[in-house]
Amino acid sequence: MKIKKIHIYQYDLPVKNAPYTMAGVQILALDTTLVKLVADNGLIGWGETCPLGPTYAEAHAKGARAALAEMAPGLIGTDLLPLTIHRKMNSLLKGHNYAKAAIDIATYDLLGKATGMRVADILGGAVTENVPSYYACGIDTPDDTARLAAEKRAQGYSRIQLKVGGRPVDIDIEVVHKVWETVGNSMRLAIDANRGLTTRDALRISRECSDIPFIMEQPCDTVHDLRQIRPLLHHALYMDENSTDLATVIDAVGTGMVDGFGMKVTRIGGLHPYSVVRNICEARSLHHTCDDSWGGDIMAAACTHMGATVQQHLFEGAWLAQPYIEGNYDPENGIKIKEGHIALPTGSGLGVVPDEALFGAPMASF
Ligand SMILES: [Mg+2]
Repeated sequence: MKIKKIHIYQYDLPVKNAPYTMAGVQILALDTTLVKLVADNGLIGWGETCPLGPTYAEAHAKGARAALAEMAPGLIGTDLLPLTIHRKMNSLLKGHNYAKAAIDIATYDLLGKATGMRVADILGGAVTENVPSYYACGIDTPDDTARLAAEKRAQGYSRIQLKVGGRPVDIDIEVVHKVWETVGNSMRLAIDANRGLTTRDALRISRECSDIPFIMEQPCDTVHDLRQIRPLLHHALYMDENSTDLATVIDAVGTGMVDGFGMKVTRIGGLHPYSVVRNICEARSLHHTCDDSWGGDIMAAACTHMGATVQQHLFEGAWLAQPYIEGNYDPENGIKIKEGHIALPTGSGLGVVPDEALFGAPMASF
């Protein structure tokens, strides 16, 4: 089975209750990119990549589409096998993992459709049909954040992530205390600064909340910063935004710099490289999430399939954009979070089929 045609679509995902606020970023709507691969046997596979605006990471929507257009002509005729596809993409373009992820996801969708298997099974086998999610509370006041955390606990979430950074650290410290007083041990807590704290403020949060059992996710901007604060923290340290490729993951794990990862499918380049991260984490008993950098049903399905294959005692949950965006691409089998969990789709491939009419005409076809 080979690639016959590649279509690239742009779609504006509406954000509910906008803006969603993180350290240094406000999100009003999201510019997502969809890829439709047509195989030489007529089967269709879908992929997606949706950078969180142009300032969150070294990725942006127009860059994704330019990278896809750069690779697309060279990909026509390539065998639809993940390793082969990645080697071909790497021969056509250096870097740009977030664009390559869309082709990678569509490849798995097609492989599933061709074999009648679910993507989770192609990725090694699902260990659960009900994948845990976690909820990320945007930056807000201590009282409102604590109220939201309690609400999410009541909805069935067992883990909550609090966004911090980008404001006086005293308020962040107050938020952490207030949430802990409200939900206590009934939820696992993560404190995520999305790189937005200085080393000074990260150390202050850890010191002034030293008796509260949370993990600190990507408190500071660089790997150097993380290495510097690591021995001084009272809390486990997870890497998120800095884990941009497998070499960085191997280095972070091999040098004992982290206790886990907030890991994103698109940043690492798709499900194929993600499965390597999953296996490295399993070998060293490290915890990790399985997230995307926003996106609609295609991204959500990709994360859910991968999350279903992770040993659940090491799994920190799949964060999805779904609760924050309006509507689904697939009106029948769209991905939804219920009681803090996501049902693994049952159909072959990703198990979701978008209503193409939503996306309009392709921006480019090859
Ligand atoms: Mg994070």
